[in-house]
Amino acid sequence: MQKVTIIPGDGIGPEVMGATLRILAAAGSPLEWEEVEAGEKVIEREGTPLPISVLDSIKRNKVALKGPITTPVGKGFKSVNVTLRKELNLYANLRPVKNLPNVRTRFENVDLVVVRENTEDLYVGIERQVEEGRAEAIKIISADASRRIAHFAFEYAKMYNRKKVTAVHKANILKLTDGLFLECCKEVSRDYPQVNFDEKIVDNMCMQLVQFPESFDILVMPNLYGDILSDLAAGLVGGLGLVPGANIGDNAAVFEAVHGSAPDIAGMNKANPIALLLSACMMLDYLKYQDISQRIRAAVDQVLLEGQFITSDLGGSSSTNEITEAIMAKL
Ligand code: ATP
Repeated sequence: MQKVTIIPGDGIGPEVMGATLRILAAAGSPLEWEEVEAGEKVIEREGTPLPISVLDSIKRNKVALKGPITTPVGKGFKSVNVTLRKELNLYANLRPVKNLPNVRTRFENVDLVVVRENTEDLYVGIERQVEEGRAEAIKIISADASRRIAHFAFEYAKMYNRKKVTAVHKANILKLTDGLFLECCKEVSRDYPQVNFDEKIVDNMCMQLVQFPESFDILVMPNLYGDILSDLAAGLVGGLGLVPGANIGDNAAVFEAVHGSAPDIAGMNKANPIALLLSACMMLDYLKYQDISQRIRAAVDQVLLEGQFITSDLGGSSSTNEITEAIMAKL
């Protein structure tokens, strides 16, 4: 049986993870859990928010469902999320963004997927102070990483029957780096004649995303643009309580909601579990249990559509437990 590493995490993490696991069980998920602890609560005991045993568990099981983890600022710890990404070579960050029923936003018919290259670009963190009042940062783009992420985007399109991949870049100014990224995307696109290929300069892309979000399908881009555009895209459909995400590599995948630990509402039974639940649905898709993920998504849609159990981030007053039970009842 497929075992999955479960990391409840900090803040609202344990509440939304508890809710998600209850719903997965109610949907008849055959997955087995291996629960491990990471984050603030293990720092004292382990001397790090990310113990080696957690990494080993993910390496062994190859799949993890993770709650938000806070990296304490100014205490010398490396970001848990960045370390996970590097150690497991999770080179693709994937964020599907879609309108959900009855969630009020100004944008309709949004159904797009942001595919962000996760390993290079300005995030390699090479900066230096040249002289007083002058600093530099180095942007790294390689053909290998660019082709790899382009292949990922097109394979995803093929697998989920998507029609178009748009490469996002600034190759008119960054001729060598973004120029190389764009060339690699064009080259890879020739292997996928059944998927349309298109490219947009990142500033124009931002404008078009808020003007015509319905006209985009899969967007593939280097790390920094991906960071910015994936938050922009999340804002189109109603915000953090709803948007799932995944970090995927060739040997492991970590599924997690986009939101952080939300300390302002932690422990209050108020958090919206839908973002983590939809991340778990992405995990079920990845593990080829689409029948179960489809049933869960349909149950979420029904509960939102009926509008009786809605959490406060979406303007309602239901608790985490109430919406969890409402979703379970629909299964
Ligand atoms: P981090 O630094 O960990 O990303 P943050 O405070 O910048 O934390 P979030 O923790 O994501 O960002 O929270 C931002 C706001 O969104 C908070 O007001 C929080 O309560 C709200 N929020 C985030 N996730 C949820 C959720 N699942 N349900 C309800 N509200 C949420």
